[in-house]
Formats: sequence, structure tokens, C-alpha cells
Amino acid sequence: MEEIYCQGCGAPIQTTDPEKQGYTPKSSLDRETVLCKRCFRLKHYNEIQDVSITDDDFLNMVSEIRDTDGIVVHLIDIFDVNGSMIKGLPRIVGEKPVLLVGNKMDLLPKSTKKRKLTQWLRSSAKESGINVEGVYLISSVKGYGLSELTEAIELHRYQKDVYIVGTTNVGKSTFINRLIKQTTGAGDVITTSYFPGTTLGFIEIPLDDETALIDTPGIVNKQQIAHYVSDDDLKIITPNKEIKPRVYQLNNQQTLFFGGLARLDFVKGDRQSFICYFSNDISIHRTKLEKADNLFNEHRGGLLSPPDEKTMEIIPDLTEREFRITNEKTDIVFPGLGWVTVPNGNITVAAHSPKGVNVTLRKSF
Ligand code: GDP
Repeated sequence: MEEIYCQGCGAPIQTTDPEKQGYTPKSSLDRETVLCKRCFRLKHYNEIQDVSITDDDFLNMVSEIRDTDGIVVHLIDIFDVNGSMIKGLPRIVGEKPVLLVGNKMDLLPKSTKKRKLTQWLRSSAKESGINVEGVYLISSVKGYGLSELTEAIELHRYQKDVYIVGTTNVGKSTFINRLIKQTTGAGDVITTSYFPGTTLGFIEIPLDDETALIDTPGIVNKQQIAHYVSDDDLKIITPNKEIKPRVYQLNNQQTLFFGGLARLDFVKGDRQSFICYFSNDISIHRTKLEKADNLFNEHRGGLLSPPDEKTMEIIPDLTEREFRITNEKTDIVFPGLGWVTVPNGNITVAAHSPKGVNVTLRKSF
């Protein structure tokens, strides 16, 4: 078959995998202008859909922008910072100014200290090799922080292009759809057919006669728990409203299960409170440490759920990591699931999470 390219973004058209780039249903191939599903929806409904591609493809594709002029808006999920921060971003996109945008702020408790959160995001970015020009906190769903962000983009871009980058599931489509509505309203938003000099599937949304906001495909980061759970479970673990802290007073040698997806053992230390921030739909189960293995083996997928059957087929086994926590207020972070705040510390815990989705500690905010 002769290779056909999308007239919108230039991606090679394929009819086999709706989740992948360049997909169009077979029935659309007869049309005079062939568009991939993504461009079709964008053209007719002004709506962006995310297509995911593998890390290597993403790197090849995104590194095409290395020598271009512009700024980068790196969108991350405030609820899964580890899983959504793109490590070594400047190596991929070139030394462009980066604005870091924490999305899904509406999920955090209102009491969250924004200044501390911003500082932590800035230093997390630095650890990932990204020096950011500014950190912005938004909610694409609620619209919170968007006008401040668009002003900052205008200020920093000096009439240059704006590249939006992010991993899958951070809310990039929701964000861009919102921007489109805000900036262009209705109308035809696809302007160029091809990214200059390439045949790649970037989508451009004009900002003025010369420059554009350019959407890049969502990178698949294997550390995101989202890749290891079924669609149904993803809905359960992804909070859809402000999370309510749940507090447990624990003695040492007690264990908390977060569904059957993660577990925290209180190994050593004085009785104290563990404040859990997880989707309100994840059940938390307390048990004695000595009984925990048995409970897990017998009740995972039942009493301890999620996981559902589908998730159990794809999710890696839990691995354990021990942490010694000093007496500073600390969060034990289960990326993509939530975190547990330990106010007093001076304890030893063992955190269990699916292999590859690594638990980390941070100063609590
Ligand atoms: P993409 O893969 O990065 O394009 O992400 P989507 O835009 O498809 O969003 C992924 C999920 O996150 C969807 O369930 C969205 O409804 C949700 N989401 C996106 N932005 C926000 C937000 O600001 N707040 C909340 N609570 N959910 C969001």
C-alpha cells in the first residue's frame, strides 16, 4: 500500500491501532483529504486528543525541536511528580527557557502551602536536570491559574513559538483544549501541514501570524503507575476531587494497605499518626505486620482492591524498600497513587510498591 500522510500533521496514516499516532478508521481513507483521528477531531471539534508513542520515538521526535527557537512549557501532574517529570529535558529539547506547570491543583487539600510546593517542584526539576524559569500551579479542569500562566507564557516567549511537552495522563489534552477555547474560540485551528523540514506529527495552534503553540505527543514513562493498571482501576486511583486526608494512629509492627497496590509497614518507632492522601475511592486497610503477607496473598483483588483482574495480569510484583525517617515532617510518596505524611518521624518504615514505580521521600508541604 502506498504510504499516506495525514494532511493535518504529516504523520503516516495507519488503520490498525486507535491509540497510536496517525490512526484513522479504514472508512476515512476514501476521503479527499485524509486526516488522522487526532487532526480530524481538532479540525471539526477543536479538541485535542493525546496519542502516545514510545520513549525512543518521542525522543527522536521531540529532539527535532532542539535547534529551533522557542520556549518549552513542561506540564506535570502534581499528583505524580516523579512519574511525569521528564528527566534531562534540556538534552532533548535544547537549551530553551522552561516553564514548569503543575496541573491538577484542584486535587490537593486547600491547606497545601503553595510556596513550599513551588519550591519543591523547582528543586525536583533541578534534580531532573531542568533549570526552570518559573513554576506555575494550575487546574486545567477548573481553570485555576490559567490566566496567570498564559500571561507568563506571553512574557517569556518574546514572540517565539511555544512547545508544550509532557508525559501521558498529565492532562495535556485538557490543558490545550482549554487554551484553544480561551484564545481562538471556535474556528479552524489547524494551520500548517508539516513541521518545517520534517514529516512529524506536531500540532500547531496559531498564537499570531508568525508563531504558534505546538503540541508534542505525550511521552510514555514506564515509572507511571498509570501504565500498569486497567482503565477501570485508573479511574479509581486517579482522584477526581479534592482528596480528604485519612488519619491512622499506628503502633510499630502495623501495616497499611492501599488497596492491594501498595503497602506501608511501620517497622520501628513510637506510636504516631500516619496521614494518608489517596484517592477517596482507594480503600485503606490496617493490619498487623506479621499478618500482612498472608492477607495480601489471600485477599489481593478482593478485600484489597484495586487491583482488578486485568490489572493483576499486567502489574509488576511489589518490591520493598526500607526508609529511616528523621524527625522532620516527611511525606512518603507512592508515585501516581498518593502519599503518607509522618508528622513526627524518628521511625523506620518499609514501603512496598510495584517494581519500577519507586517510592520516594520529600519534606512535607
Ligand atoms: P493527557 O494524556 O496528558 O492528554 O491527559 P488528559 O487531558 O487526557 O487527562 C488525563 C486525566 O486527567 C483525565 O481523566 C482528565 O480528566 C484528568 N485531568 C486533566 N486535567 C486535570 C485537572 O486539572 N484536575 C483534575 N482533577 N483532573 C485533570
